[in-house]
Amino acid sequence: MIIEMQTAASQDSIRRVIGKIRGLECEAQINAGQEKVVIAVLGRDTGSIATEIFEALPEVERVFRIMQPHKLASRDFQQDKTVVKIGDVEIGGQAVIIIAGPCAVESEEQVLLTARLVKKLGAKILRGGAYKPSTSPFKFQGMGEDGLRILAAAKEETGLKIVTEVLSPRDVELVSECADILQIGARNCQNYDLLEEVGQAGKPILLKRGFGMSITEWLQAADYILRRNNPNLILCERGIKTFEPSTRYTLDISAVPVIKRFSHLPVIVDPSHAAGDRRYVPDMARAAAVIADGLLIEVHPNPMEALKDGPQSLTFSGFTELMADLKRLTAAIGREI
Ligand code: PEP
Ligand code: MN
Repeated sequence: MIIEMQTAASQDSIRRVIGKIRGLECEAQINAGQEKVVIAVLGRDTGSIATEIFEALPEVERVFRIMQPHKLASRDFQQDKTVVKIGDVEIGGQAVIIIAGPCAVESEEQVLLTARLVKKLGAKILRGGAYKPSTSPFKFQGMGEDGLRILAAAKEETGLKIVTEVLSPRDVELVSECADILQIGARNCQNYDLLEEVGQAGKPILLKRGFGMSITEWLQAADYILRRNNPNLILCERGIKTFEPSTRYTLDISAVPVIKRFSHLPVIVDPSHAAGDRRYVPDMARAAAVIADGLLIEVHPNPMEALKDGPQSLTFSGFTELMADLKRLTAAIGREI
């Protein structure tokens, strides 16, 4: 249930509403928008609470039920689009933010070479996994702490922001020391313990869509993070499993307009993991750049030798060409990189 306060409602009236909500053993989440304060009533059985209970309170403008299963991620709770600010980088604004880098951190040389190139071409954020989820336990699992140190060195040299994946609640503190954005991977999008933990880490979060998840389930996963009072959340569409075997996953481009309609959260697109094949990545990236808040693209100095996701990683020359295209494309639609 949503309680919209009148414009310029007093703190006293807001406190009274919150007190009432807590008295009903529900949770109150507050959104102080530019115009007015909106308060969400959350709990197991809010359906049985009569809206009149709140309508009768002073300075309450309107009370209505959120019809979607997701609550805090919904446009009902927050009308204005969320813009996640990381220093001078804004995700959810006018610019198409490019996140680029290798799938996994493999060596200092590999990361630094990539960081310098992507920075020069206009990427704002460097990606690279120090902790890698692997389908097989016998495959490379990442460099761990050494990988984090390499990312920190690349950040120090280039000034790029860092996004890197955290796999387990026990690593959140350590990864937070180096990361500007914590990535929750597709496989962990419904790991609710982890979502709660990163929600409390005080860092922006990049939440990838699980490849077997509906948009609604994904937005409910987002609610776990938002509930911990972490508003700095970015969604990332990275492809879902379908019957189509030509690509590794199927990029659900329609997720972008659907998210824009039902949620205030920024949404970026990862064509690399969706395609699984570098030949498809540029076209998919160009298509997504027109509507998404950003792109996440895997780049490697020598994809043939990559320890992870080589087939989908762009070469340096492939990435250089794509960035030139993206600059022209975004300029043509009044956006920038
Ligand atoms: C990745 O970003 O390298 C990754 C493992 O992605 P996903 O979780 O989308 O598979
Ligand atoms: Mn990868």
